[in-house]
Order: sequence, then C-alpha cells, then structure tokens
Amino acid sequence: MLSRVARPVATAAGLCRSFSGSSQCNAKVAVLGASGGIGQPLSLLLKNSPLVGELSLYDIAHTPGVAADLSHIETRAKVTGYLGAEQLPAALKGCEMVVIPAGVPRKPGMTRDDLFTTNASIVADLTEACARHCPEAMICVISNPVNSTIPITTEVFKKLGVYNPNKIFGVSTLDIVRANTFVAELKGLDPARVSVPVIGGHAGKTIIPLISQCNPKVEIPQDKLQALTERIQEAGTEVVKAKAGAGSATLSMAYAGARFAFSLLDAMNGKEGVVECAFVRSEETESPYFSTPLLLGKNGIEKNLGLGKLSAFEEKLVAEAMSELKASIKKGEDFVKNRK
Ligand code: NAD
Repeated sequence: MLSRVARPVATAAGLCRSFSGSSQCNAKVAVLGASGGIGQPLSLLLKNSPLVGELSLYDIAHTPGVAADLSHIETRAKVTGYLGAEQLPAALKGCEMVVIPAGVPRKPGMTRDDLFTTNASIVADLTEACARHCPEAMICVISNPVNSTIPITTEVFKKLGVYNPNKIFGVSTLDIVRANTFVAELKGLDPARVSVPVIGGHAGKTIIPLISQCNPKVEIPQDKLQALTERIQEAGTEVVKAKAGAGSATLSMAYAGARFAFSLLDAMNGKEGVVECAFVRSEETESPYFSTPLLLGKNGIEKNLGLGKLSAFEEKLVAEAMSELKASIKKGEDFVKNRK
C-alpha cells in the first residue's frame, strides 16, 4: 500500500548510486536564475544526476561563467548557458522541466510577502516565456512569495491557453526537509529515516507540519510540539537572521529543490509510488491552492493524497492559515489580471 509519508529515495547522492546502471533518462531541465545563491548549487546537484541529459542555465547575469564551470564536471548532462531575455526562448526550447529560483531573497526584518513587488513581475515574465516556449514542461517555482507566485504562474498559463494544473508546483520541500531534521534532532533519530508531511503554504503560519503523521510515529508533549511547530514555521527567518543581510537559505534550498526535481523526474520516468508535498491548485480545503502530499506520475500530479487525519492542534493551524493564504493567492491572481 502506498504510504502518504513514504520518504522519497531520490536524493542528490542517492540518485547517482541508484541510477548508475541502466536507468537513465535524457530530460532537458532549465534553471532560471541559475547564477544565484540557490541557482548555482542547485545546478551543481542537477548536473550530478544521470536523469538529466541537458542542463540549460539561464540568468540575467554570469551564466556563461557558471555554465563553463559546471560543464567540466565528468557527468553526462550537457550544460548550456543563456544570458539575458533575448536568449530565454532558446534556453527553454524542448525543456521537460523548468526550475525557477530567480528573484530577490529576504533581508532581516522582511517577510516573504515583502518580496512581492520585485519577484511578481520576474516570475510572471519567466513563466510567460515557459508558456510560450515549453508549455508542456513541469514548472517548479522556488521564487518567493510562493503563496503568490504559484497563482501568478497559473494565471499566466491560463491567459496563454496552455494551463495544466498537474504540472505547476510551488516548491515547499525545504519545509519538509527542515521538519524531518528538527524532529530527528528532538527524538534522537536518523534524519534520513524521518518523514514529516508539511501542508498549507510556504510562509510563516501557513506552513503546517503534520507531526501526528510523522513516519516513524513520534510522541511529543504539547509544549514541545508548539515550539517545534513554530521553529519549522520560522526556520527560514532563522537563516535570514544568521546570514545578517547576505540573503536567505541557499544551500539547504538547493538540496530541497534538487530532491523535488529528482522525485518528479523519477515519476516522469515511470517510477511508481513517488510522493512529495508541493503548493498546487487544490480542492482539498477552501483555499484554491494548498500543499498536501501528491502522488506524482508521468504527467505530473497523478493524485492529490489530501490532508489525511489531523490532530485537533493541526486542524486549528489549518483554520488559522486560511485568511493569509487566501489573501496571498488573491494578490497573485490580481497582479496578473491587472498587468498590461
Ligand atoms: P539570489 O539573489 O542569490 O539569486 C537570484 C538570481 O536570480 C540572481 O542570479 C539574479 O541575477 C537572478 N534573476 C533576477 N531577475 C531575473 C530574471 N528576470 N531572470 C532570470 N534571473 C533573474 O537569491 P537566492 O538566494 O538564490 O533566492 C532566490 C529566490 O528563492 C528568492 O525569491 C528567495 O526568496 C527564494 N527562496 C525560496 C525558498 C523556498 O523554500 N521556496 C527558500 C529560499 C529562498
């Protein structure tokens, strides 16, 4: 039976081991924002995967250097660099997957929503190019605020008549990675064997870890559960503060982005039982977008596995997230509607 919280086997290192034999594929994967703090290590991890046949690196700065550097690595993915808007169509042509970490990150004191003004138009421009040049590709958006950039992506694809809700993902994997790590720390477990679904959205109290559904099952007293939940919700801010003005999570996000991309590539290659949480169009709650565990397949989302059985504490967290989630979603939708 399929477990909702089965830990995906596709990790950056694990993939190379498990796919070092015959199971290779040739996906063309583009990274938009490839020269950035996330973009560079994410591209490195993707270059390391035998699932990637061609790695197309696009940014408005430094891509020739990043591409030249990565192209010397002794793995099979062919690396190409594209610089500036006029080269974007060529970067996207023939892509099966596009991962987007382009945009500005937070500085101390900022919320993810504070990034909206800058990142909304970056994501709208980039996803419009995707809709035109690789409308069938899986679109994985990392750029914040994810709670708004996914509705933006959807509206852009709808406007161009190529919308497929099963292929547009807000990458919230870092919340799951953090939850796994923090639970393992607290309970003295191996983090590689802990799996916590995280549902809702990707900002503050919209991040809802389902500790009651942790695999393996863990008992955590209520006061510690409250603190653990808040730490997971504010973990991004923990990194922003520690980096003291030099940006937000990049290395752990690159790891998380690669984990999601590898899971999706695995599923696209016909592997069965691949489950990841992501922020997607959803009918599971009153919010039109919501992250839940998703069964992935050849064509993206095969089945939304829903929220599962929640504890009373988790039900309250879901209820408390709704107004912020709906407001961020509407902000994204309105942005595209009002755009010339
Ligand atoms: P960064 O500033 O280091 O890199 C961003 C890159 O985007 C730069 O190379 C920049 O040149 C590029 N860029 C800007 N405008 C572009 C455009 N129009 N087209 C192509 N590239 C463009 O930032 P970062 O630390 O890599 O963070 C990137 C984004 O990821 C931010 O929005 C950040 O908030 C977000 N983020 C998301 C998560 C998550 O869990 N989803 C986690 C951490 C960070």
